[in-house]
Amino acid sequence: MMRPGAIWRELVKNLLRKPVTVLYPAERMAIPYAVRGKPVFEPSTCIGCMMCVRDCPSEAVKIEKLAEKTFACTFYLDRCIYCGQCAESCPRKSITMTHDYELACIDKSVLKEYKKGAPQQPK
Ligand code: SF4
Ligand code: SF4
Repeated sequence: MMRPGAIWRELVKNLLRKPVTVLYPAERMAIPYAVRGKPVFEPSTCIGCMMCVRDCPSEAVKIEKLAEKTFACTFYLDRCIYCGQCAESCPRKSITMTHDYELACIDKSVLKEYKKGAPQQPK
């Protein structure tokens, strides 16, 4: 059992201590470098190998072939667990994990991100 003197010491110590929390969203803490937020797709380097689709544990990535060497990517961010496996598996670094973690919303249909490649240039 804690002695009364020890309780007072603990109380005073905690009253004088700076809070470890911040008044989010007005104040924000610096996020660690390795934090994985929303994945993003860069269509100009994608070769359509489907490694990202194969390795995603949540079936949260879809790659579509639009034309020869032109691909589109859809991320289902409501299913994504932000593990970063798609970015790890991509041999062309076409997927990268951003620090964008503030994705809370009321309508989850907005958590579908589609990005397509530029149309093929005529030769
Ligand atoms: S971060 Fe993980 S869960 Fe999200 S799309 Fe990539 S592989 Fe799938
Ligand atoms: S792994 Fe990379 S290159 Fe392959 S389909 Fe996915 S995004 Fe494109």
